[in-house]
Amino acid sequence: MKQLLGGKWVDKSQKIEVKNPFNNELIDTVPVATLDDVEKAVEYAETGLKEIGKLSSYERAEILFKIALIIKEDKEKFAKTIASECGKTINEARWEVDRAVQTFTLSAEEAKRIYGETIPYDSVPYGKSKLGFYIRVPVGIVAAITPFNFPLNLVAHKVGPSIAAANATILKPSSLTPLTALILGEVMLEAGLPCEAISVITGTGEQIGDLIVKHPKIRMITFTGSLEIGERIAKLAGLKKLTLELGSNSACCVCADGDIELAVNKIVKGAFAVAGQVCISVQRVFVEGKIWDEFIELLIPKVKALKLGNQLDESTDVGPMITETAAKNVMEWILEAKSMGAKVLCGSKRYGTLFEPTVLIDVYPGAKIYKEEAFAPVVLINKFENFEEAVELVNKTKYGLQAGIFTRDLDKAIEAAKRFEVGGVIINDVPTFRADPMPYGGVKASGIGREGPKFTIEEMTEIRAVCF
Ligand code: NAP
Repeated sequence: MKQLLGGKWVDKSQKIEVKNPFNNELIDTVPVATLDDVEKAVEYAETGLKEIGKLSSYERAEILFKIALIIKEDKEKFAKTIASECGKTINEARWEVDRAVQTFTLSAEEAKRIYGETIPYDSVPYGKSKLGFYIRVPVGIVAAITPFNFPLNLVAHKVGPSIAAANATILKPSSLTPLTALILGEVMLEAGLPCEAISVITGTGEQIGDLIVKHPKIRMITFTGSLEIGERIAKLAGLKKLTLELGSNSACCVCADGDIELAVNKIVKGAFAVAGQVCISVQRVFVEGKIWDEFIELLIPKVKALKLGNQLDESTDVGPMITETAAKNVMEWILEAKSMGAKVLCGSKRYGTLFEPTVLIDVYPGAKIYKEEAFAPVVLINKFENFEEAVELVNKTKYGLQAGIFTRDLDKAIEAAKRFEVGGVIINDVPTFRADPMPYGGVKASGIGREGPKFTIEEMTEIRAVCF
């Protein structure tokens, strides 16, 4: 496919090969964008900003509703592209498409609710006879940099609210999964978005990332990806708005007073969906000592029953990891954890990019697989003896995206909500639960800012005070 610069499809002689992670087959190529292409995208965006600024919120909402409708109609095309390039199963890909339809629909609805507020200017002695309010205005040109694992819905979470807020958007998708974003580019043009208001640029982050991040005409960077790149962006961006949605090693507590069977079923889904390559994947599970045996006995057969294989096969539960390097890295981390005393209860074999769903117990907190983000089909299970210890274990990490707790004790649930140091506490479900309208994002090394169309629009607009 070609890249999209201000509504024009532009090719380059140098190409990035997009491959199916299951069998390494070439799916398509995309151009390697140059620094000059970034400059062109910014120039188009300056015009795009003026064009989208002429549209009323009703008109922007209509465009967003249309995008949602076209995606819904093209569901199977999107799902196949997502599954092929990113490796998630076809059923997971269909679920992602359904969610993206909701994300664009929510963005359309929120476009109509960009409110200001009156300000009591006369509440200070020198404000007598003044009257005023604030309005929200577009931040300007927004650069959206997105990861490989949700090539449609995480793009939707940036582009949808950006359109709703009347910004011009330059999207740089992951070089591993750019095809879905380019197809979305076609859809956005078909839906009537002013063509200069969108670019989908396909260079590598290494080559064009710094220029995008430092560009003085780009007013906001919205990034979803790894902590390493997020930190680099935070250092380079300078005086710009920043949203950083980064990684995690999310924890889930199973208390003796919780529904153990429900917890097991949810944890199997939350730990192994998308082969564990979800930012809120369940990585660290803490089980109360009293129910340890029962929990393990229920869990292991369910993990062993998961079918590993070709993501396009309807019956596959766990598809490949994104690259063989990623699969090899997780194997090294498992070996390190074993050398520090961890035991493997199931899994831990690798076949190319396929990695068996793996359960480790008694993992030393100093092991990389415990303290870093695994981003693999691996779940670690350790014991806790009382609630205080559980709180400490959940919080003893540099990350803070979401955490889950299974308990029937309302007091414990409330304590967890108050004391877990994360962006979202999920009671009686796994940290992997995300509803697209909710405020979503992390604290500590998991990032800055919140997504969810209503909240992203707040991030993507500036407050302008008006005083009469
Ligand atoms: P990544 O390696 O950090 O890449 C993310 C994006 O950053 C890609 O588009 C990449 O482009 C680009 N990039 C690379 N170097 C850059 C640079 N120097 N400047 C600017 N951009 C640069 O992450 P990933 O492996 O795709 O995704 C996995 C990570 O994303 C995990 O850590 C996961 O937890 C996190 N994630 C977080 C959330 C959340 O909502 N918190 C959601 C999903 C994923 P290239 O592909 O061209 O290198």
